[in-house]
Amino acid sequence: MAGASVGSNGNLPTNQQPDQSSVAPHPFPLIIIEQGSNARFAWVDIAIRASELTVTPELAARLLERYPSLALHACKSRAGASTFGERLTGALLPHALEHLTIELLVQAHPGCLFAGNTRWLEREERTMRVRIAAPQGISALNVIETFSEALLQLNEMLALSKGQTG
Ligand SMILES: [Zn+2]
Repeated sequence: MAGASVGSNGNLPTNQQPDQSSVAPHPFPLIIIEQGSNARFAWVDIAIRASELTVTPELAARLLERYPSLALHACKSRAGASTFGERLTGALLPHALEHLTIELLVQAHPGCLFAGNTRWLEREERTMRVRIAAPQGISALNVIETFSEALLQLNEMLALSKGQTG
């Protein structure tokens, strides 16, 4: 559906509460603050509330334990083409979300090819946009729902990983 865009504008839930980050880990290290789609892409805008912006070795191990084939994903960047396995530790968390979402999409739609990218929106605000292009026949809504599922799993794994929340 071209031009479709849903999601909240503005206020994050966290802005409505006193800052408790010094007493307890943030319950949602990654938050979707906006989502949308056009004819080619579905995307989510992510606010990073985790203390670390990047994947620690511990989180990488957790991710690969549950999804070993993440390591085999192709991953292009300015540094050139590689596999995601070589970049997972130290990858920005929304970049891990991109690959985890693609992994779930591929499992649900075997044989389909998905491509995505992740870029900064506001570095100081710690917000990034993750986009995924769906092949014909896969709806943007399906991709958005899969983003949510991947986010849930990643937040769970982050909560279990020491040093990522707080
Ligand atoms: Zn990548």
